[in-house]
Amino acid sequence: MSNHLPPRHTVPVRAWLLSVTGLAVVASLVMWHAQLVDLLDFDTSADKRPVVASGPGGSPPPVVEVSKSTPPPVKPSKTPTRKPTKTPSTPTKTPTRSSSGYSEEDIDGLSPKLRTRLRKAITAAKADGVRISITSARRSAAKQRRLLREAIVKYGSYQAATRWVLPPEQSAHVQGTAVDIGPQAAMVWLNKNGWRYGVCRRYDNEPWHFEALTTPGKRCPAREPHAVATAD
Ligand SMILES: [Zn+2]
Repeated sequence: MSNHLPPRHTVPVRAWLLSVTGLAVVASLVMWHAQLVDLLDFDTSADKRPVVASGPGGSPPPVVEVSKSTPPPVKPSKTPTRKPTKTPSTPTKTPTRSSSGYSEEDIDGLSPKLRTRLRKAITAAKADGVRISITSARRSAAKQRRLLREAIVKYGSYQAATRWVLPPEQSAHVQGTAVDIGPQAAMVWLNKNGWRYGVCRRYDNEPWHFEALTTPGKRCPAREPHAVATAD
């Protein structure tokens, strides 16, 4: 590219000067007009027509360089891309309180054994940079019944549903002896380290579900494929 000589002027200098000046005047007029429109335009609707962009922070627009041969095509102004305004998500969950008086997300509703062990595990996980959050601890029998009804609809039969949701009288959640946690990293951490605190993952199909199944420091028992409702 360095060997290329600049093209010879084919347009008389006077005409060229005139065209350049004219272009500059037109450009500045357009920009002034656009800014004026912008100032006077109080329409806040989303279909606001695009205006010639001024520089960031309202600074004057960059001077358009005019080449000597042909004027460059006017760059289409960038229309400011509006980010969709976040609609505040309305909380749909109301904390469900079990008969024990604790909300389902409350660790205090758990049995003393699981609660104590889980607290230690949560502290240790935090030291490892993993936050364990409780998604479901102690559940009311009414909530458990509702979950089972929903699961029967979802999975098509009582038997299939109880692989995921046991009836209230068999549910460790209703007894306060099981906890569901999140997010994924927390499940992985607790599955790996829970035995130190006596907290074990119980089922293959529920990586979030833990119970106090072993003595702290001892191996966790083999996992079960899924929950099984006992006929009674
Ligand atoms: Zn669970």
